[in-house]
Amino acid sequence: MKKAIYPGSFDPLTLGHLDIIRRSAKIMDELVVGVLHNSAKNSLFSIDERVSMIEEMTKDIPNVSVASFDGLLVNYMKTIDATIIIRGLRAVTDFEYELQIAQTNHVENPEVETIFLTTSLQYSYLSSTIVKEFASYGGDLTKFVPPEFIDRIYEKYQIERNGF
Ligand code: ADP
Repeated sequence: MKKAIYPGSFDPLTLGHLDIIRRSAKIMDELVVGVLHNSAKNSLFSIDERVSMIEEMTKDIPNVSVASFDGLLVNYMKTIDATIIIRGLRAVTDFEYELQIAQTNHVENPEVETIFLTTSLQYSYLSSTIVKEFASYGGDLTKFVPPEFIDRIYEKYQIERNGF
């Protein structure tokens, strides 16, 4: 049984994240999308909002579930009996940080392996930070996030959608 976790902040889930979820669900028997509860980060959406938004977008994929966690990822993985971590790589800039984390996790628990999926070309520039930046200035989000999320993101900034 190959059980993997795809951890992240997902604040909010983007089309880039969704692409990684769909692709890794094809490789794994079971995939848990793990939403990190990080009190140090000022998040736009609450942890419950993020979990339910991801559930809404993945309900058609039978082997995907969504959960929130805090603390060390490797510790959480033990509790759900997962040994594989999925991460997405966009640009060289992601690489150094991701390598460090992957190696640290492997030292913490040698059973744990990290698998990197390279981003699909059309999402290589995309991050939750960019989505928030764009939204705060009233930008068109249709190429960045699922259409269902656009109004919810705008609501957070208390601005109206304009012309798209
Ligand atoms: P974190 O706060 O852990 O970086 P994110 O929610 O930003 O969490 O991202 C979670 C994972 O998804 C990371 O592995 C990140 O590299 C990957 N990711 C984010 N955006 C994209 C994208 N557009 N294409 C592929 N992978 C992505």
